Amino acid sequence: MKNVESEILVEPKLLHGNGGRARSEKCVFTVDIEDWFHIPELPMALSVAEWDTLPSHVSGNFRAMLEIFAEKGVSVTCFFLGWVAQKFPELVKEAWSQGHEIASHGYAHTLVYQMTPEDFLVDISKAKNIIENITGAPVLGYRAPGFSVTDDTPWFFEKLAEAGYRFDSSIFPASRQYGGGLKTANFTPSVINTAYGRIAEFPMTVAHVMGRPICFFGGGYLRLFPYPLIKKMGMRVLDQGRPIIFYVHPREIDLHHPRIAMSSIRRFKSYVNLRTTRPKIEKILNDFSFTTFGKLIAESKVHGEH
Ligand SMILES: [Zn+2]
Repeated sequence: MKNVESEILVEPKLLHGNGGRARSEKCVFTVDIEDWFHIPELPMALSVAEWDTLPSHVSGNFRAMLEIFAEKGVSVTCFFLGWVAQKFPELVKEAWSQGHEIASHGYAHTLVYQMTPEDFLVDISKAKNIIENITGAPVLGYRAPGFSVTDDTPWFFEKLAEAGYRFDSSIFPASRQYGGGLKTANFTPSVINTAYGRIAEFPMTVAHVMGRPICFFGGGYLRLFPYPLIKKMGMRVLDQGRPIIFYVHPREIDLHHPRIAMSSIRRFKSYVNLRTTRPKIEKILNDFSFTTFGKLIAESKVHGEH
């Protein structure tokens, strides 16, 4: 991802409102809406044709999450897998009618670096069309499966813009054992210029611990670390003037979903502390203030069409 021209989207100082306290309105809570069998990069990864034969858990799990969001009065960003939106359009309709921001997680959960630029354009365009046909509104946001944007996918932002997307939250600015990760990426939101227009990029949030970037705000680490530590690291990020992007999956509040055969380390990372996810989500929604990507972009006044 070298040679990508970008500029800062959210000036750190702009986030400091009252006396340098930055703890208002600057977190985005995101959900990647997919099923329990959409875990990338497993040796026995299932094909799209096989997905239809498996017992789906996504509807119940996602609806349970919608209830939590409604109870807390928080609008979140929903990155729908196109396959899920096609199979369960009512989930998209429910989230949309409840005021959540609707975005795309691609169609077939294929990792970006496993696709050609042309395959990628087809996958993200298909998902965009499916979701737009359900809501009747443009889908502007994208998140890559497994944060699989790497140095091997320099065409990523251009293809996103070509498909009509305007913001992205796929960059994981730390190394990851599975999936993507970009060691040299920006830690703050920025605007990427491409031949097809501009993309506002919201990287996953990391806090530095002894110089090492660690994401406390989603995935295995959110489940593994105790909540007081997650909160402390979150406040540290906000004090630095950066928004926090939290991320969860519907399966993470489902203690009884079928398990997939995988190595013991991978199993630990995929399933550790599932019982803590729901209470942690509730505490996060209580303790932090939330906005959406669309609102952050509108407030920044630097995005392409503004
Ligand atoms: Zn995913």
